[in-house]
Amino acid sequence: MARPTQAIINLQHIKDNYQLAKGNSTSAYAVIKANAYGHGLTSVAKALSGADGFAVACLEEALQLREQGITQAILVLGGGIDLSEWEAALEHDIEMVLHHPHQLATLKKDPRFSRLKLWLKVDTGMNRLGFRIAEAENIFKQCRDTGLNIKALMSHFACADDVDETKTDDQFNALKPIYEQQLLHWPSLIISSNNSAAVLSWPKIIDHISRPGIMLYGSSPYISHSPIDQQSRSLLKPVMTLKSKIVSTHWVNSGESVGYGATQVVTRKTRVGIIAIGYGDGYPRSAPTGTPVWCNGKRLKILGRVSMDMLCVDITSDQQSDLTNIEVGTEVELWGENLCANEIADLCQTISYELFCQLTPRVKRVYINP
Ligand SMILES: *Cc1c(COP(=O)(O)O)cnc(C)c1O
Repeated sequence: MARPTQAIINLQHIKDNYQLAKGNSTSAYAVIKANAYGHGLTSVAKALSGADGFAVACLEEALQLREQGITQAILVLGGGIDLSEWEAALEHDIEMVLHHPHQLATLKKDPRFSRLKLWLKVDTGMNRLGFRIAEAENIFKQCRDTGLNIKALMSHFACADDVDETKTDDQFNALKPIYEQQLLHWPSLIISSNNSAAVLSWPKIIDHISRPGIMLYGSSPYISHSPIDQQSRSLLKPVMTLKSKIVSTHWVNSGESVGYGATQVVTRKTRVGIIAIGYGDGYPRSAPTGTPVWCNGKRLKILGRVSMDMLCVDITSDQQSDLTNIEVGTEVELWGENLCANEIADLCQTISYELFCQLTPRVKRVYINP
């Protein structure tokens, strides 16, 4: 029998979330970097056969998609690192982000690079990748003089998940004049800036190709329980359901402890269930005692520290809940359809993005509703 620890991936829900993300923007490149946020790069790409294109972090991810026969547009968000990467992009028809002078210097070396579709990235306040606003005009001019083909002006918002802030408006307002000015030179130039949070909460931003990531996986990009967070949780359909089973049950006496470090001492006679999942599977060790686990329509609570291959839950029956039907072999859900990954992430003081990306290869991905 196989280890019962599995991530069930509902591909129909990815397709539905993509349609929602596309909404009324002209086009949307599905962001499937980092193994499609842990969901499986090529399986997700194949499910999204109707997507306008894909965005990945690096060339290796793009080449993997081409090798698997993906023919849609692919954009590498980090652009090329060296000459060989730009050549590979040319050979495999991969769109590339241009964000740094060292890249421009490479592109100037060979007239064949004029065939590449480039996305010129401007930094609007993230201060991570991109040319500074004041440099943009000059960089565009150098590209024109070199005969390069700039398909899009792009930027990435630093605070689109903060709907009470005007920063995103300010950042877009800094980008827009560059776009309007460059349209005179590049009549088919498009603009691209929206990640999931911007798609969901900044509908007024002009965006020809949006770049939704986390929302495709059915998870809200917002941290806390703001109204927009609740709203997006109800709009999006969870894609990954992380499951395992109870592999042991036993009783401990009041005053005894459970788990490493004996951090959790029980104050009543307690029935403990052991679940076959731990940080070796990517379930966060930072999940504190009390973190919920879904089982037979009820919420169980984690007891003590999460270990590498297992974690413990309290399955003591009391007046509030009868848990006597929980036994070895009973299935549990760590997050997914019944337990929002955002809630678990909050308790672990992280974001659902990290929970998904952290799942290790030991967790079998099982695809349903292709
Ligand atoms: C990861 C990424 C996205 C997608 O962000 P989400 O918050 O997951 O929607 C979009 N654009 C760029 C440049 C990215 O790096």
